[in-house]
Amino acid sequence: MSEARTDWNAMTDEDFRREVRAFYEANYPESLRFLPRRLRWAECRPWYLALSRQGWIAPAWPVEHGGMGLSPMKQIIMLEEQERIGIGRMPDQGLTQVGPTIMRFGSPAQRAKYLPPIIAGDHIWCQGYSEPNSGSDLASLQTTAVRDGDEYVINGSKIWTSMSMDATHMYVLVRTDRHAERPQAGISFMLLDMASPGITIRPIRNIAGHEEFSQVFFDNVRTPADALVGELNRGWTIAKALLGFERLGIGSPRRPRYALTRLEKVARSRGLLDDPVFADRFAQLRLDLADLGSLYRRYVDAVRRGEELGPDVSILKIWAMELNQRLSELLLEAADEHAAVSGATDFDGETVDVLAPFYMSRPGTIYGGSNEVQRNIVAKRVLRLPQE
Ligand SMILES: Cc1cc2nc3c(=O)[nH]c(=O)nc-3n(C[C@H](O)[C@H](O)[C@H](O)COP(=O)(O)OP(=O)(O)OC[C@H]3O[C@@H](n4cnc5c(N)ncnc54)[C@H](O)[C@@H]3O)c2cc1C
Repeated sequence: MSEARTDWNAMTDEDFRREVRAFYEANYPESLRFLPRRLRWAECRPWYLALSRQGWIAPAWPVEHGGMGLSPMKQIIMLEEQERIGIGRMPDQGLTQVGPTIMRFGSPAQRAKYLPPIIAGDHIWCQGYSEPNSGSDLASLQTTAVRDGDEYVINGSKIWTSMSMDATHMYVLVRTDRHAERPQAGISFMLLDMASPGITIRPIRNIAGHEEFSQVFFDNVRTPADALVGELNRGWTIAKALLGFERLGIGSPRRPRYALTRLEKVARSRGLLDDPVFADRFAQLRLDLADLGSLYRRYVDAVRRGEELGPDVSILKIWAMELNQRLSELLLEAADEHAAVSGATDFDGETVDVLAPFYMSRPGTIYGGSNEVQRNIVAKRVLRLPQE
């Protein structure tokens, strides 16, 4: 439709913000605002489709693949407006992770087959990387894929697979050569239809009581040979590039901004902004969030220019997730006795769930690669510090 071809980058920031705000206000359901959890596909599908029809579902994608080709500044404006009215996180791994990966490493046939259904909301993706005994040491993964005619046969198990219950597809790391010299050398990157026979999904409940991830079992699951992305046994490079896109997504100021908004409401209602000690801590966190926004824009711009994300994107992930934790901790302090109450509390007419941001911020230093491991990456590959 015509909106998809509008040159959004040519608009002034103010006009663009006005247009985005009006669309979000008019189309995003009241009942899904400021939810303390990720959105399930069944509840957010109409919203996803509304964005897709508007041509706004993939702000960062190039126009040729159905995206907006949007400048980093305008992407931040969209994020800010999403935060303002409390738009929740949809199952977005197609848009933020596997989509950009297929653009970069997929064949023309794979791009044609897999990219349009992401834009249309027909394919929902999940990530099959971690296994019960392979997390930080991902290269030790044991799920296998063996060639049989025109197919690969997959056996093994993946764990902590976010939103797998809603996913139609999984991108999966599998071992295709057990005898390779280095473990990384025998891994391949494949695409898998979750409706394939032999897949069992067992949901796992998190500390907040939500079932957002699961363990997935593969019992002789077949996927066509053309679902292999890149070369056989060369999936590690693709896996790492995808993690770069994932860390960029995790490093977005979206989550910390959400926590800051909640913090400001509670602090105002309790008169804490007049307390110089509290105001000092609040201002510091606000400045840290501004720094995060600048750093994020730099990386988004690099991706837009088609540059490869280097290992230094780990710094963005560390900073975003640790800031999110510091904000959610101060929110608990600000709420005082209400911090012990689970669910929404009324603060001068504004309802705020003070525990939810705290719970949601805890795993942020684990998923996408733990922050300890990110520090190792920065030490080794960015700072090139000597190793013991
Ligand atoms: C909410 C959530 C969602 C997730 N979603 C997905 C998903 O969709 N798909 C998927 O594939 N995975 C997912 N994961 C898994 C995530 O990627 C792993 O949890 C993470 O990589 C850590 O692996 P692990 O849990 O096995 O911990 P381990 O690797 O066992 O690490 C345990 C502890 O040891 C530390 N550690 C390990 N090695 C080192 C080292 N070399 N140096 C210093 N410290 C070290 C770690 O930092 C950590 O504190 C998710 C995790 C969470 C919490």
